[in-house]
Amino acid sequence: MKIGIMGTGYVGLVHGAVLAGNGFQVTCMDVDADKIKRLTDGITPLYEPGLDELLERGIREGTLSFTTSAKEVIQSSDVIFIAVGTPAKDDGSANLAYVHEVAQAIGKYANGYKVVVSKSTVPVGTNRTIARYLDGALKSRHAPFRLDVASNPEFLRQGKAVGDSRSPSRVVIGTESEQAKRMLQAVYETHIREDVPFLYTNLETAEMIKYASNSFLAVKISFVNELALLSEKVGADIGDIAAGMGLDERISPHFLQAGPGYGGSCFPKDTQALVDIGRRNGEELHIVRAAMTANEKQKSRMVAKIAEQLSFDGTLKGKTIAVWGLSFKPETDDIRDAPSYAVINGLLSRGAAVKAYCPQGMKQAQRQWTELNGLVTYCESEADCAQNADAIVLMTEWEQFREISWDILAKSMRGNAFFDLRNMFAEHPRVRRLFRYYPVGSSELA
Ligand code: NAD
Repeated sequence: MKIGIMGTGYVGLVHGAVLAGNGFQVTCMDVDADKIKRLTDGITPLYEPGLDELLERGIREGTLSFTTSAKEVIQSSDVIFIAVGTPAKDDGSANLAYVHEVAQAIGKYANGYKVVVSKSTVPVGTNRTIARYLDGALKSRHAPFRLDVASNPEFLRQGKAVGDSRSPSRVVIGTESEQAKRMLQAVYETHIREDVPFLYTNLETAEMIKYASNSFLAVKISFVNELALLSEKVGADIGDIAAGMGLDERISPHFLQAGPGYGGSCFPKDTQALVDIGRRNGEELHIVRAAMTANEKQKSRMVAKIAEQLSFDGTLKGKTIAVWGLSFKPETDDIRDAPSYAVINGLLSRGAAVKAYCPQGMKQAQRQWTELNGLVTYCESEADCAQNADAIVLMTEWEQFREISWDILAKSMRGNAFFDLRNMFAEHPRVRRLFRYYPVGSSELA
């Protein structure tokens, strides 16, 4: 079975590389010619642990190739995964332009039976529309074959994407075609753990499972973040509250960590899209909407808290702030919708000078946040960033921050405030002794 992947980003590239690593013949296609050229030259265009090795192996063994030609990948594949972006439009709805481009190309170039599988997160009804469109396109070409459509949402976590792709929490296959189901089963059974559960549904249910899962997690984070703000006021500790809640297996300890608000390329856009789907269908999704509002509040409250602690009047003129971590989570270079963006803008608008350091996110920041170029000073290391700063604001919990020589770093600073927006050092006596330490969700100061 030959596999084609349309859209070679975080999802498509990892999925393609893992399948190629398991012996499938995989061709990854993208409209971004520069990305395809770099991949062909053996350069990984994004940071994801373990991906380099997989790509190198796939290319060396000849199981993985790259192209910008939609026709080539469509005609040579039995299963075509769609993994293009579905970013939010200004009104919150998902932008399906890239998905539609791919569907059109498949309708035009398909030369025999294929399964068309959507890994992109798409609003309910999209895959059925694609199926109808493809039927119509084949009819108008008098093509003597059919195409089957399946929804196969992706649940990988960036930073852990290779492991998640090999060992997903579940495989959801939404399709009404037995042949498509069998082919997808065959694709997955060769590369994932035996005990991974499979769930077979119709197209709409599979589409909803993805939005429901991400929105539920966003609600869980916002819930804890609101409690964290309250805890600071009433003298409680959110770390202990989360531990106490998480011991109840109905709640589970996962996704109960307080922080500066959720971000990334999925939660913000998927919550917006689900609310939009609700609106279009006459159902207001109050809880998801509240989670979105709480998330915006969380980011601005972080800035307000920093300003309150560093000045009497809320302005930050004359203050230099070192921001550690730009990516929306550790082990990725992805800065899309990262809370660091809102926090940096908030600090700048209050007059602070901002220095920033991120182990992997700085290249993307300079490329995507062009309006911040010249306003933010990007640094070589966390120590360089903290030098002469009045405060450190830790935005992302990169493990390498644990290796710092704290005494030297503290001496190099002008001030000694440490806003740990991930509570990474809540249990670290030296950090708490050397700095005026401000965690999230606890009124207790070191
Ligand atoms: P991405 O932006 O990293 O990659 C998308 C790629 O598609 C880009 O390289 C772009 O150039 C390419 N593309 C655009 N139009 C194209 C076309 N017509 N033909 C071929 N390629 C085209 O996006 P991503 O983060 O990989 O996400 C892809 C989809 O998967 C989204 O719907 C997203 O919601 C979903 N998803 C993402 C994650 C994640 O962690 N990133 C997890 C689960 C699901």
